[in-house]
Amino acid sequence: MTNPAPDLIAPDLVTRPDLYIDGHWVQATGNGTLDVLDPATESLIGSVPNGTTDDVDRAARAARAAFDSWSRLSPRERGEWIRRIADAIDSRADEFAELISREVGVPLAQSRAIQVTLAIGDLAVMPEAIDEVAWEERIGNSLVLREPIGVVGAITPWNYPLHQVTAKVAGALAAGCTVVVKPSEIAPLSIFLLADAIDEIGLPNGVFNLVSGDGIITGEALVSHPDIDMVSFTGSTRAGRRISEIAAAAAKPVSMELGGKSASVILDDADLEEAVAVSLSKCYQNAGQTCNALTRLLVPRAKLGAAEAVAATAAATYRVGPPFDSDSTMGPLASADQKRRVLDYIARGIADGARVVAGGTETTDSLTHGYFVAPTVFSDVTADMAIAQEEIFGPVAVLIPFDDEDEAVELANDSEYGLGGAVWSGDTDRALHVARRIRTGQISINGGAYNSRAPFGGFKSSGHGREGGRFGIEEFLTYKSLQL
Ligand code: NAD
Repeated sequence: MTNPAPDLIAPDLVTRPDLYIDGHWVQATGNGTLDVLDPATESLIGSVPNGTTDDVDRAARAARAAFDSWSRLSPRERGEWIRRIADAIDSRADEFAELISREVGVPLAQSRAIQVTLAIGDLAVMPEAIDEVAWEERIGNSLVLREPIGVVGAITPWNYPLHQVTAKVAGALAAGCTVVVKPSEIAPLSIFLLADAIDEIGLPNGVFNLVSGDGIITGEALVSHPDIDMVSFTGSTRAGRRISEIAAAAAKPVSMELGGKSASVILDDADLEEAVAVSLSKCYQNAGQTCNALTRLLVPRAKLGAAEAVAATAAATYRVGPPFDSDSTMGPLASADQKRRVLDYIARGIADGARVVAGGTETTDSLTHGYFVAPTVFSDVTADMAIAQEEIFGPVAVLIPFDDEDEAVELANDSEYGLGGAVWSGDTDRALHVARRIRTGQISINGGAYNSRAPFGGFKSSGHGREGGRFGIEEFLTYKSLQL
């Protein structure tokens, strides 16, 4: 618990003392609370319960009790409920956007256009995706059924706090599972608003449950609870490994959406200016706190100088500032820890011999409070440097030169991660050919847009399992064969 000075307590403090369990707001069993800070001002803006193992137990039992009737609804009936959740978010979109801007720091317009829109999209595609699932099929003398895996524990990070939850809830509910959500302790407030919206539409009791809390007590209690049949986790590779260990002890399935260090491969026949500028915008989205951010820009060696110039110009166009200032195009990082971590990486890049082409400092102007870091570009980067290999999770891009297409592919694959990526070329077939050689879960070709119905997830240390559309439903299904 922090103890901020009175002027660091927001007048419109959001205090949420209760947890949402079995269709009701109920008092948490413990006294512990988690403070939520505004990353732009460092002031206290809210508090939520730090859920106990008893809270997790109540929520998991409620989800278990609700499972039978929820799983026996027809997929289309469940799809109808999911559509109502999407509509409920949509009708309060401005409220969600404001709250997410407050707790994450993302500029308000982007909060509405990206954070809230993504969340609505996760849910809105489900009624159609439900019809794409082969719920039953005949194979020889067998009737093969796809059935929900059971009760899902969903553990999520702070960067897209609402979208990370809706991505899981949409797929799990569509599959016929019930859920207990444990949101991030850094940005939990929007999930309390989601529970308000779900309560208002009257979703059957116990289908969606919310227990806020920390990772070690609340999170681990959820993972190990016997009524939780599967854990769906999004967050750091470090926490993902720990959760996998606990789940493995109970032979419990997990799906993992983890970190990334995604490459944007800009081939020699690409529109360099567009490719560099768009890649940087994907790197800097959400102040660089995006798991599939394009953080490694691979450029032809002969064009490195030109790429540096475009990157420096593009980085300079960003206005770093508070989320409710309409001039801001990049907000602060989400926490003091995150800011420290990003600045440490910048210092390390410089110490390792990389050259700062843009940014490299805390802020670009005189912001005195908040966790602001200037959009940064490094050149003279080699693939073995920490800034080229490790996930920084801040607005830091690195430019790495290559000599030919094979080397570009080799560099793109020279990562423990494999989550996102991009390929740019004047020849789409060439771009597709290169994309097929890169071991990563998603690749944008010449700026191809994000698609809520396409599978999202990682290779290698970026995790396993997929979210989005039919693939996100199938994640929570298992098979049953009836032999006739
Ligand atoms: P984090 O791993 O610290 O926390 C994520 C969640 O896990 C939080 O709710 C936290 O309380 C919980 N947690 C932590 N330790 C736990 C434990 N031992 N048992 C159970 N729960 C535990 O991650 P973060 O800092 O919130 O988010 C940043 C990370 O998330 C980055 O690495 C980023 O790449 C990753 N991320 C991945 C995706 C994706 O889809 N692949 C999306 C967003 C973020």
